[in-house]
Amino acid sequence: MREPSAELIVDIGVIRKNILYLKSLLNPETKFMAILKANAYGHGLKEVTLGIDDIVDGYGLVRMHEALEIRENSSKKILLMQGVYNNQDFDLANKNDLDLVVHNDDQLFILDNPNINIWIKINTGMNRLGFSPKSFLSVYKKNLTKRQFTLMSHLACSDNPLDDLNKKQFNAFDEVSKNVQTNHHKSIGNTGCIINYPNQGFDWVRSGIGIYGGYSADNELQSAMTFRSKIIEIKDIKKGDRVGYNGRVIASKDMKIAIVYAGYADGFPQSTFDKTKVSINNKEVNIFGQVSMDLISIDISDISNCKIGDWCTLWSSKDSIKNHIANNNLISYELMTRITDRVKVSFK
Ligand SMILES: *Cc1c(COP(=O)(O)O)cnc(C)c1O
Repeated sequence: MREPSAELIVDIGVIRKNILYLKSLLNPETKFMAILKANAYGHGLKEVTLGIDDIVDGYGLVRMHEALEIRENSSKKILLMQGVYNNQDFDLANKNDLDLVVHNDDQLFILDNPNINIWIKINTGMNRLGFSPKSFLSVYKKNLTKRQFTLMSHLACSDNPLDDLNKKQFNAFDEVSKNVQTNHHKSIGNTGCIINYPNQGFDWVRSGIGIYGGYSADNELQSAMTFRSKIIEIKDIKKGDRVGYNGRVIASKDMKIAIVYAGYADGFPQSTFDKTKVSINNKEVNIFGQVSMDLISIDISDISNCKIGDWCTLWSSKDSIKNHIANNNLISYELMTRITDRVKVSFK
């Protein structure tokens, strides 16, 4: 076989389907911003932009170099969701027609330029970024009564509708908006909000994880990633044999194991527990032993005709990333964004 390598296959068609589904939940007036930070959650910034440009209204991210790469490929709205921190980046943003978030006093210099589209971030209870409602109102009175802007906030637990922090945040957002006398736009919804509170979409939703299919509580959304590698070794082991670093697992019977050419240096978490499901030849099989830098060991005792060179799918639209996160107390956001540079990427 050719030199094997872990592969990431990104299905742009799946991302499109996910976007159209999420849009169908919303009021048709609500604009849809695709969140493309962190290399489109690990899916490939340029390819994703080109693949979805006709069905979204804009893009959101947090790094200047990514915003500029999108600008080369799209004339739609681009929002730098944490604004800029110096004049040099401000000039770049201005030149490339980027919208900017202002989230604290250090960024008020951005408001000096009347041509920039402004999003003001307020803290409604997540307590990360954003002006308090009170300090926002004083910024508003001083700087914003004569211009259009978008009032923005971010939800801490929109994926869990049972948490009353959601209601608290929506109420705080509403309260601030009522105190703004002039016409303004509003944006608070991320993916969880679109699914659990579609009536809080307002003017713009900002959806990331949903478009890539990493939102576990919705069965319509499919993972756009296939992460796989080949089997490079098959071994018979005896009852009592131990496998991998630390001899973490002990064979409880005579077994057959496959060694797959991928590991934590490809982005497959070293912390993965035994019994996490992956698939070989369309059959579910279990991780057996500690994941190493380049290799994963798998129990294939129950599948016949499995051979060296066969693919092992670590996750895909069918064998979902959801299995992995549920078994390992991880989040899909992290799994998607930690796939490393040596993995071969292709698109379909
Ligand atoms: C990342 C991010 C989003 C997208 O959230 P998802 O849960 O991935 O949909 C929206 N808004 C802001 C400010 C973000 O940082």
